[in-house]
Amino acid sequence: ERTRLGKLRRLPAETLDGQIVELQANLEIPAELPLLDHAGAQGIGLLRTEFLFMNRKDLPDEDAQVSVYRMIVEAMGHDPVTIRVLDWGGEKEIEALAETVPMAVGPNPALGLRGIRMLLKHPELLEEQFAAILRVSNLGNVRVLLPMVTIPAEVAEAREIYERVARRLRRRGESLPDKLPPLGAMIETPGAALAADAIALEADFFAIGTNDLAMYTLAVDRAEIDVAHLYDPLHPAVLRLMQFAVEAALRLRMPVSVCGEMAGNPRLVPLLLGLGLRSLSMNASAIPRVKQAVRALNIDDCARFARRVMEQSDPAQITELVEKFGTA
Ligand code: PEP
Ligand code: MG
Repeated sequence: ERTRLGKLRRLPAETLDGQIVELQANLEIPAELPLLDHAGAQGIGLLRTEFLFMNRKDLPDEDAQVSVYRMIVEAMGHDPVTIRVLDWGGEKEIEALAETVPMAVGPNPALGLRGIRMLLKHPELLEEQFAAILRVSNLGNVRVLLPMVTIPAEVAEAREIYERVARRLRRRGESLPDKLPPLGAMIETPGAALAADAIALEADFFAIGTNDLAMYTLAVDRAEIDVAHLYDPLHPAVLRLMQFAVEAALRLRMPVSVCGEMAGNPRLVPLLLGLGLRSLSMNASAIPRVKQAVRALNIDDCARFARRVMEQSDPAQITELVEKFGTA
């Protein structure tokens, strides 16, 4: 079976009726880079940059960040590299930031100063990261992603900083592309999903983070064992929010992808394609099986299936439908 999945690497992620699906990798540490080519990833749909700030006592400076981004962007050639700015807060703790950003850990860290909220409160961190990313943006196909967005103004404010940093770099003689890399928003809270039509007016693309979206929608901590049985991305509430966000993006012909764990489950591919998604980002190791699933599907069947699923309001019914897909 290994060789069969290996051969898939060169085959396109194309449905039986000729729809192309983009399958990209989520990257948590650069050491995973060699896996991408092997898995046949078409770029990086989510580069988590937390690793740059972890296991160290001080902050990485701009040049240190540049060298890591450069290595990754160059390794990916013309394929897209979606660099997400630091998503700190919530359950993710970073020692190097303790001095710069003294985190008074409130009663609900996951509802506190996390992701873009923290970066806008400490714009010097965001400026430095934007500068480092912009300095490699001429070397490949870079995109920039903002975590934990909940209101359109966060994207607008981040974009002002982004453009100001770009102007400063140009004045300094850096060569940046005429058109700056797209600036996208993670849709990973119910608030963002339900305001997706407004956020879409400020963002250049969406990446739907179903890990946090499920957590925040269902009020179930991702890391809490006692409530793990309630953590279910197939809960209709999560799916309806995803659908709302996908449709807001598609109406504007704006790129939208899913980059939560859900995207790497081959059984969920019919549903995701049926909701209109054509771009999925996942752990590299999941790509061959997801591609296999894509290549066995018709979009019409997926759309019909998604309509049936979206009529359900009982999570157990949805799970059953997903398990039975293709057998009826
Ligand atoms: C998500 O929340 O689904 C996501 C992709 O981001 P992370 O898992 O890094 O929080
Ligand atoms: Mg997330």
